[in-house]
Amino acid sequence: MKRFGALLGGAALFVLAACGEQAAAPLQPITAAEVNGAAIIAADQRPDIWISHGRTYSEQRFSPLSQINTNTVKEVGLAWSADLDANRGMESTPIVVDGVMYVTSAWSIVYAYDAKTGERLWKYDPEVDKARGVSACCDVVNRGVAIWEGKVFVGTIDGRLIALDASRADGVTDGLKKPLWEVVTVDQSKPYTITGAPRVIDGKVIIGNGGAEYGVRGYITAYDAADGKLAWRFYTTPNPTKQPDGAASDKVFAEKANATWGDKGDWTTSGGGGTAWDAMAYDPDLGILYVGIGNGSPWNHRLRDPEGKDNLFLSSILAIKADTGEYVWHYQTTPGETWDYTATQHIILADLQIGDKVRKVAMQAPKNGFFYVLDRATGELLSADKFQDNVNWASSVDLKTGRPVEAPEARYLESPFAAIPGPLGSHNWHPMAFSPDTGLVYIPAQTIPQVFADQADFAYRPGFWNTGVEFAAAPGPAPKLNERLAGRAALKGQLVAWDPVAKKARWTIDYATPWNGGVLATGGGLVFQGGLDGKFRAYDAAKGGAALWEVDGQYPVMSGPISYEIDGEQYIAVTAGWGTGLPLTGGGNAIPNIGSPELGRVLVYKIGGKAELEAYAPYEMEKVAATEDFGSAAVVEHGRVLYDRNCMVCHGGLVVSSGVVSDLRWSKTPATKDGFADIVLDGLYASAGMASFANTLNADDAEAIRAYIVNRANEDAAAYAAQAPQ
Ligand code: CA
Repeated sequence: MKRFGALLGGAALFVLAACGEQAAAPLQPITAAEVNGAAIIAADQRPDIWISHGRTYSEQRFSPLSQINTNTVKEVGLAWSADLDANRGMESTPIVVDGVMYVTSAWSIVYAYDAKTGERLWKYDPEVDKARGVSACCDVVNRGVAIWEGKVFVGTIDGRLIALDASRADGVTDGLKKPLWEVVTVDQSKPYTITGAPRVIDGKVIIGNGGAEYGVRGYITAYDAADGKLAWRFYTTPNPTKQPDGAASDKVFAEKANATWGDKGDWTTSGGGGTAWDAMAYDPDLGILYVGIGNGSPWNHRLRDPEGKDNLFLSSILAIKADTGEYVWHYQTTPGETWDYTATQHIILADLQIGDKVRKVAMQAPKNGFFYVLDRATGELLSADKFQDNVNWASSVDLKTGRPVEAPEARYLESPFAAIPGPLGSHNWHPMAFSPDTGLVYIPAQTIPQVFADQADFAYRPGFWNTGVEFAAAPGPAPKLNERLAGRAALKGQLVAWDPVAKKARWTIDYATPWNGGVLATGGGLVFQGGLDGKFRAYDAAKGGAALWEVDGQYPVMSGPISYEIDGEQYIAVTAGWGTGLPLTGGGNAIPNIGSPELGRVLVYKIGGKAELEAYAPYEMEKVAATEDFGSAAVVEHGRVLYDRNCMVCHGGLVVSSGVVSDLRWSKTPATKDGFADIVLDGLYASAGMASFANTLNADDAEAIRAYIVNRANEDAAAYAAQAPQ
């Protein structure tokens, strides 16, 4: 089968004999101390290990291993599993080298396991202040570590970058591991978070941050892997004064980016957003680092920049020199972003035959629903096509100007707009994969619409959710339970096998729910993907069709799977755990409530694996309201608006939680005024992640929210009692 030139030129440093095939002679073991740029560049010659986030700097998430293939996959069973000490969203991609798996859980905790047996070698807990949880838009997740010359690097939810000794056993007792160095990468008085995995290039650890929903100014920073010394920083939005920062980004802001922002507007207090919270890729031949840049802060463009300018580098793919942070080019997917359409989604580099030329491309399927193919040396836009047919905010992208052709009403200035996609995107953080064997990109796509409405009375509140979009549904009775359950049909998931040359889907798999897992493609002709339904599956990479293999992972399997080989056996590994974005909120019955897992897990499979998971039954709360209705209609309505602005993002629309965070309808918390105020205003549960809201809510506000919660609880308790839904 034709290969698509996945190798980057730097691989010439190594013998090319093994090129994607299983080498005949056993590979020499590589130690954690030997992981460096040459080793990562040569990763295609080392299919047995997985030493960088996307396996290679090109981030293709393609494992050449082929022992597990379309014929043998039916014999695959569980080799081992391990519980992670947190029950929130699990988004980590494991790293495997020298028989050790390095993986993270929610709350930025790092674990090392024997990758063959599952024995825990060590654990490092950065002991993040749990009250920081309220600054994480989409759960206190972490997408994994990086490894370089014997060190393991992790970014933490409170904004630190920490270096640990990668040694298999370093003489410390589990839980007492000490960092080699740590640096605080953010102003911790602001609602910054780090959820993304670092990458390491030429001795520099690169890390971004998140927080654009709350109000921060995004940037990425390179630190010296040896000692944590700052090497360069690139800001992704202007200094509010438009003066230089003494940063690598100064030149491009002075020359062109400052002019794309008006002089007034909420960006000058919010920081403008543009956080780089996930995607990075690197081309060692060009020396270019590609970074995906996030949405605006506030989301609402009218409020952020009343002059209506493009606002660089929001929603852009940014190409910068990895050694200096110097600007090379950018492509802005969504100029004047106003829908939370981040371009932080996974970026894949590949060499594609397009027409009569082999083009070095960068590919991305950002939230906005278009699949972009760019020349990665120059930034030239080669194609931009909808990978989800139902996308309605724009009809097409003009290839000459690179700009989307927007629907006239999409900016919700005059009236609300029911956008597809909504802010959760046609594709979110869940990693894609590219198979050089099939030439296809496998996209975990989805449909989650959202009505956007201008928040007329918006006032920036430091430290809180600041989007300028009115989430509160129109006043009036909440949709009935049966209507909400029926409404699930509007949400869908798809695995799209996208041909980036022909610019169309070759095959698709339909799922009943959105928010399914990341993808791994393999030399065995397979793609692996987990589901929100707790299943973990493998498909024929060329043909799609019915799953060739399916196992019950018990909890939703959302992260990117990996593959590695030890002692001649191929393993497939993935983390499993509920939480993260939509599954955290439950979305007003938009997704089924499968209850909270006790703990997230690592799941590892191989041919002939015989391990078993313990039986699991989700815990269901008794559907009884804590107390009787109280408060006037006006108080309940006031409580509804405040709930939607302050509580909904974690506790769920219509007070319906997914079960990860407390479902307040069935909780005893709203039973009494004082008990509720202890938590909401006095921070009683701050150590569990529920911070005090005393800076933005007063006692009357809290009581109104309680009245709304109790009202919703009694309404739904009656509905459940009457109709006994599925
Ligand atoms: Ca966002």
